Amino acid sequence: MIRRERDGLRYYQFESFDVQAVDHAVFTRLGGVSVGFHQSLNLGGTCGDDPAAVRTNHERVFEALGRAFESRFDVWQVHGKTIVISETPRPVEQKHQPADGIFTANPEIVLMMRFADCVPLVFHDPVRKVVGIVHAGWQGTLLQIGKEAVEKIGEHYGSQPGDLIVGVGPSICSQCYQVGEEVRKQFLKSWGGIADTFFKPDGDRYLLDLWAANQWILRGVGVVHIEQSNMCTAENLDEWYSYRKEKGATGRFGIVIALKRD
Ligand SMILES: [Zn+2]
Repeated sequence: MIRRERDGLRYYQFESFDVQAVDHAVFTRLGGVSVGFHQSLNLGGTCGDDPAAVRTNHERVFEALGRAFESRFDVWQVHGKTIVISETPRPVEQKHQPADGIFTANPEIVLMMRFADCVPLVFHDPVRKVVGIVHAGWQGTLLQIGKEAVEKIGEHYGSQPGDLIVGVGPSICSQCYQVGEEVRKQFLKSWGGIADTFFKPDGDRYLLDLWAANQWILRGVGVVHIEQSNMCTAENLDEWYSYRKEKGATGRFGIVIALKRD
């Protein structure tokens, strides 16, 4: 990824995405107004932060993007596999709908999702002109939400997997992500023996490789162009929030993407 700074905010962009075609940013936790363990660009509204600070942080993000806050579409991320397609923004007063993947073909919409260890999958289809973001923690990965997303935009927009460019954003790496036998059992039950490719014994527990698992899911449905950021949230707390490393006392960093307007 390429590191950039604007208006005191530090963010990263995937090298694979054509900046002439899409506006996108993976915002670090730097440059906001939140204090304490939310310091400082927390975009999560349900992790105990001051709502006024979270609102100011959102305004800073949209200002840096040069987009109106009212153009935002976001959802309530619930670790499921529901994909929502929206060609309209979410009215600010309207409640979030539960979902873990969002897509649009409308250049007036800015998609936004929040993360702190879970794997972000950021999509661009330059042929059908579609963008999207998917939230894949271990539960979303178990449910193969990446596959769900590729199939859904195939049906809805006619997107071909071979045309898609997918960026795998900052998230917890396999060395930092220890899970118990109960998690491995669920994967084995659902995926069969292949699941063990992604688990490495670590004492009486396991290290789970969410990056490799999501790459395997995407390649399995025909995605060929994948950019892996290889940035671990738990090892870089200066830039990212990590739910695991900070034991839940943390914020959420934001990822935004929109098609360029003419
Ligand atoms: Zn790590």
